[in-house]
Amino acid sequence: MTIDKFNFAGKKAIVRVDFNVPLDENGNITDDTRIRGALPTLKKILSDGGSLIIMSHMGKPKGKVNPKYSLSQIKDAVAKALGVDVTFAPDCAAAADAAAALKPGEALLLENLRFYPEEEGKPVGIEKEDPAYDAAKKEMKARQKDFAKTLASYADVYVNDAFGTAHRRHASTAVVADFFDADHKMLGYLMEKEVTAVDNILNNIKRPFTAIMGGSKVSTKIGIIENLMDKVDNLILCGGMTYTFAKAQGGKIGNSLCENDKLDLALEIIKKAQEKGVNLVLGTDCVAGDAFSNDCNTQVCQANNIPEGWEGLDAGPETRVKFAEAIKPSKTILWNGPAGVFEFDNFTGGSRAIADAIVEATAAGAFSLVGGGDSVACINKFGLADKVSYVSTGGGALLEAIEGKVLPGIAAIKGE
Ligand code: AMP
Repeated sequence: MTIDKFNFAGKKAIVRVDFNVPLDENGNITDDTRIRGALPTLKKILSDGGSLIIMSHMGKPKGKVNPKYSLSQIKDAVAKALGVDVTFAPDCAAAADAAAALKPGEALLLENLRFYPEEEGKPVGIEKEDPAYDAAKKEMKARQKDFAKTLASYADVYVNDAFGTAHRRHASTAVVADFFDADHKMLGYLMEKEVTAVDNILNNIKRPFTAIMGGSKVSTKIGIIENLMDKVDNLILCGGMTYTFAKAQGGKIGNSLCENDKLDLALEIIKKAQEKGVNLVLGTDCVAGDAFSNDCNTQVCQANNIPEGWEGLDAGPETRVKFAEAIKPSKTILWNGPAGVFEFDNFTGGSRAIADAIVEATAAGAFSLVGGGDSVACINKFGLADKVSYVSTGGGALLEAIEGKVLPGIAAIKGE
């Protein structure tokens, strides 16, 4: 079932959203992107004449009540965004009466799901090595099922709109779906958009397809690089991992970031790209600094010939041109991870060149997906988020989806 086709009139919908918004020390929201992201789904339900039971996690309270992570702090902001009064249920596992009292067009916000260890379903206070761990895990899984059943009992329909937690099999993200039939569980609009975006780069590819993988380490990206190797025409590897590749090929990299235990892996990636006919684009020159700081002295040098005491902190001018040349004619583009230490204003040039080329390709009709943690911060820093096709909201979930893994939150609804 899709949310668009469902008429929520007279129905109670329990909606898993990601309201894990950053708060300042006074409990004020500093970035409400996630609340705004869920509004199309929540408003559709209300305007159909349905009532809303909104559930989310916030932070990592580790199965214990902790006022610092109470969702009561965001109740008023949610009410304002929705344009209706919102009641608050201070115990998410004892909200049956509050849910039953909801009338069409009304909304109830449940307290942080993660105040209960059952939400994540991991046994508390016992290490994996403990002989009693397996029994404790089994017991917790049974409790998780009961907790999910309680949540399900509040509503007629379950909607999951929390892409950021879709890679977790938690009570509210996956287990709860088992208590609804196929016609009464569905993805929300935000989830649908994320799923379509991932599908565009994994299955519905228009060529040429260019993936740009940056960031600090090759080790955290290897699963994605391997999955993409069979799909892409151009693979740009940039950022800190440039220097692991340069060293693996015999280069001198000074103090640059390097994973010495991944040198063989780097050579394997180069070999695989050759075997599969993938155009692997690595940085040739770089902007090196004499310290890891914005104000250090800089020089442009070859990425495989960096003087002692210097470290590569951004892609160099020649490299930027090479990257842009690969990106501009592309029809499908994925960008994950910056090309340099973009947090320092003096080392944003490489990432900016990538962002500009993606914007140009998108204007010419390419589908571009930017996602996974720091690339989102980077595109936002450049003010270009609305000039690419899609900026993903899910860090870890997006990366796992691109690795080709099945996300439990989506499988629980689509039955895959
Ligand atoms: P990741 O979380 O793996 O995507 O890495 C993102 C981080 O990589 C950002 O904080 C960047 O500052 C960092 N990064 C990118 N290029 C470099 C580099 N050449 N040296 C050190 N850190 C880098």
